[in-house]
Amino acid sequence: MGEKKTSIKSIGEFDLIAKYFMPLANDCDGAFSLLDDGAVLDIPEDESIVVTTDCLVEGVHFLHSISPEHVATRALGANLSDLAAMGATPRWIFLSLQLPESKNEQWVSGFAKSLGKMMGRFGVSLAGGDTVSTVGAMGVTITAIGSIKKGSALRRSGAKPGDEIWVSGTLGDADLGLGFLKKNHLNADLSDTESINHLINRHLCPEPRVALGKSLCENAISTACIDISDGLLADLGHICAVSNVSATINMCDVPLSLAAKKLFAGNIDNAQMSALGGGDDYELLFCSGPENSSKIAALGKSIPLSKIGVISEKSLDNTPAVKVVGQDGRLIEVNHHGWEHLK
Ligand code: ADP
Ligand code: MG
Repeated sequence: MGEKKTSIKSIGEFDLIAKYFMPLANDCDGAFSLLDDGAVLDIPEDESIVVTTDCLVEGVHFLHSISPEHVATRALGANLSDLAAMGATPRWIFLSLQLPESKNEQWVSGFAKSLGKMMGRFGVSLAGGDTVSTVGAMGVTITAIGSIKKGSALRRSGAKPGDEIWVSGTLGDADLGLGFLKKNHLNADLSDTESINHLINRHLCPEPRVALGKSLCENAISTACIDISDGLLADLGHICAVSNVSATINMCDVPLSLAAKKLFAGNIDNAQMSALGGGDDYELLFCSGPENSSKIAALGKSIPLSKIGVISEKSLDNTPAVKVVGQDGRLIEVNHHGWEHLK
């Protein structure tokens, strides 16, 4: 016999909030146990708040088949990653849920448990939200609030010619993992389940680089920073656009995971294209002057950091702002463009 499913209608909005979301607000006095109209939140006088929001829609940002636990980790991961890219310390989140009839109480329970667990790891509390029903797709919107010393936020706009371009971790994994979930990579060695699961996990449970963002901020190391959510080329392109510069990446320096190298040993182009164009890795990309290399090496002891290229003067011709160069020095054509909505 399967587990009995309880429809959301039979529990109702207020009991649902009290049962599953109130416990996530307990450690925040100003959230008033989610029983008031708004939250009252204080930060130290010498700090600013950093606010970001991300809306995830079922079927657009995640497959219909993914579990409520992973909807939570993807939604929170995306938001905390934006705070990381600004160098902020995450403090509170607001959660808006739009639930179709197909989502039952068990779905909300799994979602809330997973959300609470990840919130605990990053020290954030739930300070409010909204819960509505919908006749359309399920949607989860999280607004995350962090804090930062006044005037110290990492921006996209300060990259300068001569700066080196660095990325954390490995790239392309989430995109390759999504490919496995969609059963796209039938030529890969499907018996290597450990490597496949590693890639799938990178898609389902992104790890926002909060500690790295804070260190970059506290040590004033980076001239520009962004999280890689749309894809390396697209996101570096955003930095180039607002910093008014160009960039060159060396393909052989773009870090691939061991799992990606093993699974795509016979077809490394595939992994490289995901690393350049695939989104959702949530690694940080930052630019920094060559004089900071020893400070960066020190940071690299807690998280792998790779120098992948260099910033140059903005090119005056019509060539793309971001160029990728292969080992033979020739330009590489990229046919996997980052993720852009409404296109
Ligand atoms: P109002 O009708 O005044 O907008 P609501 O009935 O929508 O208030 O919400 C009541 C309280 O529950 C508010 O404090 C709100 O922040 C909180 N809340 C509603 N849904 C959620 C949710 N999904 N997560 C966290 N808090 C929520
Ligand atoms: Mg409301």
